Amino acid sequence: MDCLFCKIIAGEIPSTKVYEDELCLAFRDIAPQAPVHILVIPKQHLASANEINAQNSTVIAHIFACIPQIAEKEGLSSYRIVSNCGTDAGQTVHHLHFHILGGKVLNTEMA
Ligand code: 5GP
Ligand code: ZN
Repeated sequence: MDCLFCKIIAGEIPSTKVYEDELCLAFRDIAPQAPVHILVIPKQHLASANEINAQNSTVIAHIFACIPQIAEKEGLSSYRIVSNCGTDAGQTVHHLHFHILGGKVLNTEMA
């Protein structure tokens, strides 16, 4: 499958990894929008949050259990978790990912 993030998982495209286990990978965004900008992705290819269902949600719960550990390691006490779902919402890479943004006082505008 021609998916950028699947290629990052496979190691075919380099990334700066900050966390990895059997279910998920976290790496630094190539174009950070905050001092800390990390992407957390499931190793299983899901196109977006719109594909989360009762069968695959275990990995989503796992990702959300990993995020506080990643944030702590990055020294973040406040941070934002964002998942753009669909092109009109700003999704440009169609492999589910959660942005972790922090390290500054974030803009409160959401849309
Ligand atoms: P989206 O716009 O889909 O919510 O987020 C995609 C994110 O992936 C963007 O923040 C973009 O900077 C990041 N990105 C795109 N290509 C690469 C890449 O090759 N490596 C890394 N580390 N991040 C990427
Ligand atoms: Zn993928």
